[in-house]
Parts: sequence; structure tokens; C-alpha cells
Amino acid sequence: MRGELMYEGKGKQLYASDRQGELIQLFKDDATAFDGVKHDVIAGKGELNCAISSFFFEKMQEAGIATHYIRREGAVEMRVRELAMMPVEVVVRNVAAGSICKRLGLEEGIPLKWPLTELFYKSDELHDPMIAVEHTELFGWASRDDIEEMRATALKVNEVMTSLLADVGIRLIDYKLEFGKADGKIYLGDEITPDGCRLWDAETGRKLDKDVFRRDLGGLSEVYHEVANRLGIELEFA
Ligand code: 5GP
Repeated sequence: MRGELMYEGKGKQLYASDRQGELIQLFKDDATAFDGVKHDVIAGKGELNCAISSFFFEKMQEAGIATHYIRREGAVEMRVRELAMMPVEVVVRNVAAGSICKRLGLEEGIPLKWPLTELFYKSDELHDPMIAVEHTELFGWASRDDIEEMRATALKVNEVMTSLLADVGIRLIDYKLEFGKADGKIYLGDEITPDGCRLWDAETGRKLDKDVFRRDLGGLSEVYHEVANRLGIELEFA
């Protein structure tokens, strides 16, 4: 049961729930890019993202990763542990794409010798600037130990996701994670969906993620459906 709206982001809403310390995370149909400059509403996107995120979070829990996920509660709703979020995005890259190509002049598609983790300060106004652990420590966003733990978890997530996706012919190029704390412990929060990952078809290199929307490459809903279908994800919430 949903209570008061506590927070609204570009793709999600967080509501109070009937239990202390637990929230209801609702996935919206909105698609945004370039810090909200490009915006569209895509019918069914919320349901796809809720199903895909629930699937990945369940796999993370099975792998022993502490996450905010409790259970899926509806077509577009999941119940989560309430966290104090850290304003730091952890990006993991297996292949060069997106901002690292622009920043370092790399060609898109070059495999990296090992997974690279990068940190960004979560701020739409500032366009999520890249930061170092020195910044997170100095400005009190996350301690050095917190960042070390988040990076280790992000790499464990990489192993689980890379293997699940490789089994269905999808390459995990990169993705973004967010973490938060409850009772002093770090949990993986937010969502794991094609909105925050780059996913390429292993054979053709076709993009199966939000870059389809960012770069006007076709229907977003069709490719998210394809990701869900390949992973064997049940879309209907019973
Ligand atoms: P890049 O730094 O290349 O823009 O993004 C790297 C990866 O993290 C991509 O998979 C991208 O979708 C994801 N990512 C980075 N920042 C954000 C963000 O603010 N929101 C979402 N949804 N994904 C992000």
C-alpha cells in the first residue's frame, strides 16, 4: 500500500509504505536524456523496468549482495528498504562507450583490459561531473572505506550481470549503480534497468538500451521487451 510521496526523480517515485523503514519504489513511463532536456512518455516502460530491475535485484540477492530490494509488489511497484542515498554514481565499464570516449578520445567499442570503475557526483545542475575518492571524502559524500566497498560490490554485480546477459547473447558494455546506507550498512539501491546500462547484441552490436532513445535509433519499448524476453522475465504481475 502506497503512502505519501517522499521523492520524485525523472524515472521513479518513492512513496512511504505501511512499514517503518520500507518504501514503495514506482517506475514511471517517462524517458529522459541529457539531464532531462529530452523527454518522452513511453507506455509500458515503467512495467518493463520494474520487471527487469526486480529480476536483476533478485539475482544480486542470490549472489549475496546486500541490496534495498524486498519484493515486487505490483506491475510498476517494488518494495525497498529505505536508504540514506550517497550522492555518488558508480559507473563500471567493460567496453569504451559514452562519456569516456568523449573525455579520453577513445573509439566506441574498444574492450577494456579489465573492468574500470569511475565515480560521478550526482547533480543534474552540474551534469554529474566525474570525481575522485578525494572529493567524496573531502565533501563528506562517502568515506574512503565506503567507496572501496561500493567499488568491490559494483565489480561483483558486474560478474553476475555479465554472465546472465552473455547467456542470452547480450554484451554488458557499462552501467551505473547508486548506493545508500541504513543502520550504518551499505546497500545497493536505485534500479538496474536498460535505462542505466549499455547492452549490445553480442552478434550484431545492435543497441538494446536507452541509447536507442538518446540517439533516436528506434523504439525503446521494443528493445526493452527484447531484453526482458531473452532473459525469460515474466512481464505480467500476478
Ligand atoms: P556515461 O558516463 O558513458 O554517460 O554512462 C555510463 C553508463 O552509466 C551508461 O550505461 C549510462 O546509461 C549510465 N549512466 C550514467 N549516468 C547516468 C544517469 O544519470 N542516469 C542513468 N539512468 N544512467 C546513467
